[in-house]
Amino acid sequence: MHVLEYLHKPSEVNVKIIDILKQDKMSLSFEVFPPKKETSFDSVKAATESIAALGPAFMSVTYGAGGGVSHYTLDIAKNLKEKFNIPMLAHLTCVSSNKDTIHQRIEDMKAAGIKNVMALRGDLTPELIANGRDNCDYHYAVELIRELKDSDSVFCIGAACYPEKHPESANQKEDIQHLKEKVDAGADFLTTQMVFDNNLFFNFMYKLREAGVTCPVLPGIMPITNANQVERAIKLSGSFMPQRFKSLVDKFGSDPEAMKQAGIIYASDQIIDLYANGITNVHVYSMNKPDVAEGILRNVSAILGKNFAG
Ligand code: FAD
Repeated sequence: MHVLEYLHKPSEVNVKIIDILKQDKMSLSFEVFPPKKETSFDSVKAATESIAALGPAFMSVTYGAGGGVSHYTLDIAKNLKEKFNIPMLAHLTCVSSNKDTIHQRIEDMKAAGIKNVMALRGDLTPELIANGRDNCDYHYAVELIRELKDSDSVFCIGAACYPEKHPESANQKEDIQHLKEKVDAGADFLTTQMVFDNNLFFNFMYKLREAGVTCPVLPGIMPITNANQVERAIKLSGSFMPQRFKSLVDKFGSDPEAMKQAGIIYASDQIIDLYANGITNVHVYSMNKPDVAEGILRNVSAILGKNFAG
């Protein structure tokens, strides 16, 4: 693993992500996910540290509400913040939690010095779908955003958005109206669901601006580096896969090294196209893979004005 020359200064650790996004400077950030069970904590921690050592603008840590492991989000975020002086964004979902749990999570984040929260509803579990949500404390992400705003704190708040509409929405217009409610309630910036075709993102941006959503929007780029990921990614996100990408998987999917290289280059190409067309901030779903994160950073390092050491 090569380490970038650039490391965050201690004063940058408490920077709010909105201040990074508002700089007229291109940036790249990485998402990681926490361990799903205790036994994998050390390996996940090590992978996230290797990614942090690359010096991204900030990192986000996803949240899994079930299975008693939700505290790992904060454990990983706090560790990276303290070891690498890196601004951290902790995700939080609300639909499967009651008010007490959410209030505790908010207090824990404050105590850990986390300044940035990605406020999400979370996916509906089979139980929630079967039983309905009448008795739930939270129904939509906007309720969590309002609570974070009222929580006597100075959180910078992110929210999710869907260039190809959220799967539950009847149409994109309605989805964008609900998205605007999240921004009006206090979301400072938005990150998109994974997109594999930049034109979908650019079209979405026109529609957002037309609807009066003016905050920064980070495109979410998912490097697909093995063929097995494809089906899962489509199932999870419903995102459109362009023919150009499908051909690449057909051709190289059975050769792991070739597929990895092709996936890194495809994602890098998307990122360069976004930068070239005026998008300054891009978020990469790193899937906890330091080699993939490094490959992408290498491909855009001169654009970001960074040099690899070693
Ligand atoms: P919402 O904004 O509440 O929207 C959900 C649906 O409800 C949409 O169709 C919306 O149009 C509709 N809606 C919103 N408000 C209203 C209203 N008032 N009336 C009627 N309809 C309404 N999941 C995790 O479990 N952990 C994570 O860490 C995580 N991170 C994510 C990060 C990003 C960038 C993205 C894009 C998604 C992430 N997810 C995560 C997945 C997310 O939880 C799901 O996509 C979930 O189904 C929706 O969450 P949301 O916050 O977008 O919901």
